[in-house]
Formats: sequence, C-alpha cells, structure tokens
Amino acid sequence: MKNCVACGMPMNVSSDFAMNDETRNYCVHCARSDGTMKSFDEIKEGMTNFIIQTQGLSREAAENAALLVMKNLPTWKSHFV
Ligand SMILES: [Zn+2]
Repeated sequence: MKNCVACGMPMNVSSDFAMNDETRNYCVHCARSDGTMKSFDEIKEGMTNFIIQTQGLSREAAENAALLVMKNLPTWKSHFV
C-alpha cells in the first residue's frame, strides 16, 4: 500500500491511483485529466472543498485543515519554509 504524496490518501486499489496506474505516487484526486499531478494550490483548493463538504467546516477552518495535512507531506516541504 502507498499513500498519495500530494494529499496523503491511502491508495489500495488501482482505481485510487492516477490514471489507474499503480506505479504513480499520487492519487486520482491529485491528477489532472492528462495524468500530471496538480499544483500545490489546486490540491489545497480541492482538499478545502472536500473538507467543507464532508465535515461542514467554514472555509477558513477547512483551508487550515488542508494546509495542516499538506505540511506533513515531503512533497510540499518547500511551500512551508
Ligand atoms: Zn492525492
């Protein structure tokens, strides 16, 4: 099992991976339709909206929660210096 390097989501089955490709290090939610990985801002925005929908947080709280997750991922290290 791998975790997405961009959002931390566990990827268990091939449909969790970008382009159904288990050799990729990022998940289907973090891939653009052409298969490339989304940018920091695109992923932050997607996670923020996801948290608002699933947890009903305010936009500001959801954005903070998204940033907290991303802060723990080495992929985005350079965004938090
Ligand atoms: Zn992801």
